[in-house]
Amino acid sequence: MPRLRLQARGVVQGVGFRPFVYRLAGELGLAGWVQNGPEGVRIEVQGSAQAVALFPQRLRLGLPPAAELRELAVESIPERDGEGPFRILASAGEGDPRPSIPADLALCPDCARELDDPADRRHRYPFTNCTNCGPRYSILAALPYDRPRTSMAGFRLCPECALEYADPGDRRFHAQPVACPRCGPRLRFQDPSGTLLAEGEAALDRALELLRAGSVLALKGLGGFQLLVDAASEPAVRRLRRRKGREDKPFAVMFPDPAALAAACRAEPAVLALLEGPEAPILLLPRRDPGAVAPAVAPGNPDLGAFLPYTPLHRLLLAGFGGPLVCTSGNRSEEPMAIDDQEALDRLGEVADGFLGHDRPILRPLDDSVGRIEAGRLHLLRRARGFAPLPLAMDGAGVLALGAQQKATVTLLVRGQAVVSQHLGDLDSAAGMALLERTAMDLLAFLDAAPERLACDLHPDYASTRLAEALAGRLGLPLVRVQHHHAHVAAVLAEHGLPGPVLGLAWDGAGFGPDGTVWGGEALAVDRAGFRRLGHLRPFPLPGGDLAAREPRRSALGLCLACLGEPGPAAAAFAPAELAVLARAAERGVNSPRASSVGRLFDAVAALLGLRRGRGFEGQAAMALEFQARDGLGTGAWPLPLAAGAADPGPLLEALLADLRRGEPVPAMAFRFHAALAGLALAFARDAGLGTVALTGGCFQNRLLAALCRERLEAAGFRVLRPGRYPPNDGGVSLGQAWVACHD
Ligand SMILES: [Zn+2]
Ligand SMILES: [Zn+2]
Repeated sequence: MPRLRLQARGVVQGVGFRPFVYRLAGELGLAGWVQNGPEGVRIEVQGSAQAVALFPQRLRLGLPPAAELRELAVESIPERDGEGPFRILASAGEGDPRPSIPADLALCPDCARELDDPADRRHRYPFTNCTNCGPRYSILAALPYDRPRTSMAGFRLCPECALEYADPGDRRFHAQPVACPRCGPRLRFQDPSGTLLAEGEAALDRALELLRAGSVLALKGLGGFQLLVDAASEPAVRRLRRRKGREDKPFAVMFPDPAALAAACRAEPAVLALLEGPEAPILLLPRRDPGAVAPAVAPGNPDLGAFLPYTPLHRLLLAGFGGPLVCTSGNRSEEPMAIDDQEALDRLGEVADGFLGHDRPILRPLDDSVGRIEAGRLHLLRRARGFAPLPLAMDGAGVLALGAQQKATVTLLVRGQAVVSQHLGDLDSAAGMALLERTAMDLLAFLDAAPERLACDLHPDYASTRLAEALAGRLGLPLVRVQHHHAHVAAVLAEHGLPGPVLGLAWDGAGFGPDGTVWGGEALAVDRAGFRRLGHLRPFPLPGGDLAAREPRRSALGLCLACLGEPGPAAAAFAPAELAVLARAAERGVNSPRASSVGRLFDAVAALLGLRRGRGFEGQAAMALEFQARDGLGTGAWPLPLAAGAADPGPLLEALLADLRRGEPVPAMAFRFHAALAGLALAFARDAGLGTVALTGGCFQNRLLAALCRERLEAAGFRVLRPGRYPPNDGGVSLGQAWVACHD
């Protein structure tokens, strides 16, 4: 009888892979065994020639939804006598472990069906899960992933759940968080002072009453507390904005079901499949019906961040409410999400009118992932729930990279895989810094890794740099300081598994340049040996330094002073006294760093076109400009000439002013600006003479800019690389740092 030995690598642990193999072997009448091992999953099968031949093929085709097979090595081995029925063997612990940390998975169709079935013992049970779905990383205390090492340790399995857990033929075989109404977590509803008002189904009713009244509900979700309000109610959404201190940054909206979502947004079947899949991200989708949600949800934004219920609790809540709900992280500004019940009451007591919680502890914050579809593929802008911390294959080992300051992440490079943490938010608060350190320590402990070197940004004042310096001192390890835009481009090479050289266009708001200026409009040649700065935007001053990131009028002033020698039309946004002070400061170089930043150029142009002058969130002006430009497609381009590696914004500013004088429509001008940058991308590429161009940095979150640059470059024969599963913004910087440090 033929016998095969198979070695499966990829995402094959904690995703229902072994029970799947068990069932498949049973169906085919094969003997043998399956076992979790240090290198993934090992399988041996023996049986009829036909069944043995079919096995690898059926294995590839029928994978559980969250599994990802990166490699399946198959070899024939000699037949073994006396082989009994197919078995699942205990995990093999020997050798050099190479475990992967499982990611949290959205509610699966089977569990959803049980949730809705009055005859099922888990009917309406908000914490149902199986090997295909449920919490993982968010409840994980240590590896290997077993119930005693999760926050389910305190819940004793009832006899029925214990049977399911132990039955290899059951969907809940070794589903670590398995639970039912008899033995699992329970819902509770509390008022903002923490007084318990209801439990179980009654708690859900209280929460729904509150939402129907237009009040703010704090919900203990999968990876942290979230704030929910009726998305159709303008006063409710405004109330949330006021209390959260969030002026007009868009909110994401959770729809009760795919049909409701597709009525509000343009979502093709492939997009809906993503939204309903195990990762269930928030996707930025073009709106179809602008009236589906209140204007205050995403003011002036033609897109909507839309998603579907991804836990049983969300599903019950949305079904009960019957309409879309704003669903946003439970935090103030950019602090980490609250995960602990008392912490949530303390921090959100004045924001929420009621708390729908439960007694299953969350061990680490996990935001919802956010992505967008570009050229038919998913591009993540925020990588967290569902994706983090799944590993990326990458040569090298022994590097811990601490990332940037905003949209922080940590990357651990260990045994040929890069493990990038979830999005950790900004590091401006003590809570943010503590989370960064804890996440780094967790990854080291989970993967039993001892780094040989650390990596951080060149910026001396990033909290991540200071942590890296402290750790390097404490552990006696070398520290590699990686230039910010170099890291951005390296992250793209890491993701695509390429050595370079590439031309990397890293365009963003601001990064520390080794020459004392602020970088952000960079053309870098990058390979394993390092980077060379081939070109950049000609720098202009930013009066007020960091303040310019939130006040586009300052960038406009700096640009005009640099190109015209006078404030020109930028003056209108300032009081005369203020203008005089800032102009003098810029002239003398006092608190007015010079920046080659495309992000600040976006701000300057938006301010001059009257789109956004004063305070807002970073990137808001650029977004306004992009949305305008979408209505001005194909209206030409302003000049942005490249000479000796420097792009001169002077002619662009002159064209802008001429268009303004002629009273050209804003969408046309906004488009001409985008087209100018696409032309610049092509000019950089022609100058560099490298066949491949990586487009990255926060500016490339702009869908139109990315599409125009790609179009121009591909038409001219260049290969274009884009970040996909790792964000183009600073969320990808730690990955790039790890790549640079391991080649250092
Ligand atoms: Zn399930
Ligand atoms: Zn039970």
